[in-house]
Amino acid sequence: MSDRPTMTTTAGAPVPDNQNTMTAGPRGGVMLQDYQLIEKLAHQNRERIPERVVHAKGWGAFGTLKITGDISKFTKAKCLQPGAETPMLARFSTVAGEMGAADHERDVRGFALKFYTQEGNWDLVGNNTPVFFVRDPYKFPDFIHTQKRHPKTNLRSATAMWDFWSLSPESLHQVTILMSDRGLPVDPMHMNGYGSHTYSFWNDAGERYWVKFHFKTEQGHKHFTNEEGEALIGKTREGYQEALFGGIERGEFPRWKVQVQVMNEAEAETTSYNPFDLTKVWPHSEFPPIDIGTMELNRNAENYFAEIEQAAFSPSNIVPGISYSPDKMLQARVFSYADAHRYRLGTHYENIPVNQPKCPVHHYHRDGQMNTYGGIRTGNPDAYYEPNSVNGPFEDASAKEPPLAIEGDMGRFNHRDGNDDYGQPRALFNLFDAGQRARLFSNIAAAMGGVPGEIVERQLAHFKLVHPDYEAGVRAALEHMHGYKADTISAQPTAAE
Ligand code: NDP
Repeated sequence: MSDRPTMTTTAGAPVPDNQNTMTAGPRGGVMLQDYQLIEKLAHQNRERIPERVVHAKGWGAFGTLKITGDISKFTKAKCLQPGAETPMLARFSTVAGEMGAADHERDVRGFALKFYTQEGNWDLVGNNTPVFFVRDPYKFPDFIHTQKRHPKTNLRSATAMWDFWSLSPESLHQVTILMSDRGLPVDPMHMNGYGSHTYSFWNDAGERYWVKFHFKTEQGHKHFTNEEGEALIGKTREGYQEALFGGIERGEFPRWKVQVQVMNEAEAETTSYNPFDLTKVWPHSEFPPIDIGTMELNRNAENYFAEIEQAAFSPSNIVPGISYSPDKMLQARVFSYADAHRYRLGTHYENIPVNQPKCPVHHYHRDGQMNTYGGIRTGNPDAYYEPNSVNGPFEDASAKEPPLAIEGDMGRFNHRDGNDDYGQPRALFNLFDAGQRARLFSNIAAAMGGVPGEIVERQLAHFKLVHPDYEAGVRAALEHMHGYKADTISAQPTAAE
């Protein structure tokens, strides 16, 4: 017994009894002065923090990014130079489900990465799909509302989802991926990741390039059908955690090939699509992926809450040589992701160990929640403002990126004008063989159960503009699955204003 550590209060005093409440006699009457009891109950009440509004259910692990290719002509980022090895954290997630949701649900998967580079943390907050449902951030909260619970029924609403999607044809590309085989991966190891947004690289000469990031699974793609997913959920709701955590414990370290597509500024003026549109990919034939290295996950968190639940990923975290682009969704996420963490975790969330950079940190932010680093981050108590004459930390002009060449009159431009929302979903549809198409049709029909005919017809009209076989296939699946008969309303494809 003597070598057991003494249990203490949070203030460090020894706890004399952790079995019996202090009472006025053996029959009860609890003493308010039993502070340790109050402390225990109060802590229990505070063990949960707000779950993420999106991507609440997640699974993560630590690993290494190794760079083997040479893209030094595009970027000065030290972590992307040949031979660089950077410790990292990955967190995968579903988008819509709450923290207790089942893992094997059809949904887009988050693919969030934090690279602890010598020049600060670089976060790439992507998905397992190269595109997204919307291209304008005004639509983002509305879209998420359709994925969450109806305010009155507290149930998820297929009607809301298809109403929104059918009024937003820019969603067709992502809807097609979601409803295809890749919409239900067996686990995080058997899916790709994509940075999705267009980012930029800049080099020592101050030249800027646009870039898309790809992480290609080396385990191969593996998916469940809806039926397989449903059967599994009956047995376990935690299949992804079991597979990722268990695999790494057994020494099975998943790897992804890391690739970039690079476009120069002149090329960006000539593409038939807006290269900053999050609903579009850059065709490989035009911008071939370049292999730059490998990402491997090889260490589990010691404490899920501390290291995965409190992990704060934000595209605002960039390092010299990597930056943003005019992509409107990216610009909005640069604000909203960091803001989500300030709300969930506290003002100084980047001081939580899993979020701490592994390089020196010197800034002039001061007080606020979670300031556990002992005052200010300048190394000098007199350096609490800037500029100062006390030799406090100072800016580094070499980290200044080249100007972003943005021209044009300020205004609200209709994001649907001149946009082809059907061509890229068609290119994807054309990749599918007969079996993949049949599963696409039945997955969509299953997801449309109970949706009013007017909305179904509006969506079918969009599928028809992608490919007549797409519309016919979904219509036949609806008839087969739900006895659906064409609505009397002759719907035209429409887009919300
Ligand atoms: P390519 O044929 O050159 O590229 C095909 C891409 O599609 C590959 O990256 C492949 O990913 C992926 N793919 C293949 N089969 C499927 C499938 N069943 N479901 C989802 N993705 C699949 O053509 P393009 O570059 O012109 O793209 C054609 C379409 O492919 C796009 O409209 C887009 O929907 C989709 N796509 C394109 C990507 C891109 O960055 N260009 C990335 C992912 C998808 P993998 O190599 O992992 O098998």
